[in-house]
Amino acid sequence: MSEPQAGSDARAMRTGAVRHGESFVVNGSKCWISRGAVSHVFLVDVVFRDEEKSPKGLLLIDRDTPGLEIGRIEPMMGHRGSPSTELIFRDCRVPVSNRMAHGDFSAALVAMSLSRCCNAAIALGVAQRAYDELVEHLKQRAAFGKHLADFQGLRWMIEDMAV
Ligand SMILES: Cc1cc2nc3c(=O)[nH]c(=O)nc-3n(C[C@H](O)[C@H](O)[C@H](O)COP(=O)(O)OP(=O)(O)OC[C@H]3O[C@@H](n4cnc5c(N)ncnc54)[C@H](O)[C@@H]3O)c2cc1C
Repeated sequence: MSEPQAGSDARAMRTGAVRHGESFVVNGSKCWISRGAVSHVFLVDVVFRDEEKSPKGLLLIDRDTPGLEIGRIEPMMGHRGSPSTELIFRDCRVPVSNRMAHGDFSAALVAMSLSRCCNAAIALGVAQRAYDELVEHLKQRAAFGKHLADFQGLRWMIEDMAV
């Protein structure tokens, strides 16, 4: 779903699909796609441009579809086992039969909200591990005749991190 200009405001997405015979031709780009670097198939939110009121909906797009390029892997502080990537669509032709049922955009938004809660939990776990590793390091490492854990300036930093 996410695009550079459409994160929280998913309705601002621009990736469009135009029908040509038995295919949709998709153009646009996505970002922050979890496991985009390793996935075989993508569920992609698009705007159906040539339909009345340009409804939003979902297309199932195979990784090997000509016109789909996996872009850069986003640099992240953690969570690197799940590489997030850009997806770039240039005249990417998708069979009409790959369109999911009508009226599914709100269901996609609900799924997105759930995944945001998961991302928050993952971020908290990464922060907790960083904290635990740091405390252990400060207890082990000695400099200027004492353990780093005994320096008040560093203890304040750890305290801020715990808060
Ligand atoms: C680890 C990770 C994995 C992800 N995986 C996926 C994925 O698989 N597929 C996908 O489509 N996207 C994915 N995303 C993208 C994610 O959905 C977006 O980051 C999210 O929607 C927020 O968009 P944004 O980053 O553009 O922030 P913005 O929308 O720019 O928001 C920036 C800040 O403004 C606040 N804000 C925004 N709007 C309002 C408002 N109306 N009122 C008050 N505050 C507001 C936000 O809370 C936030 O603090 C992933 C992101 C991360 C970090």
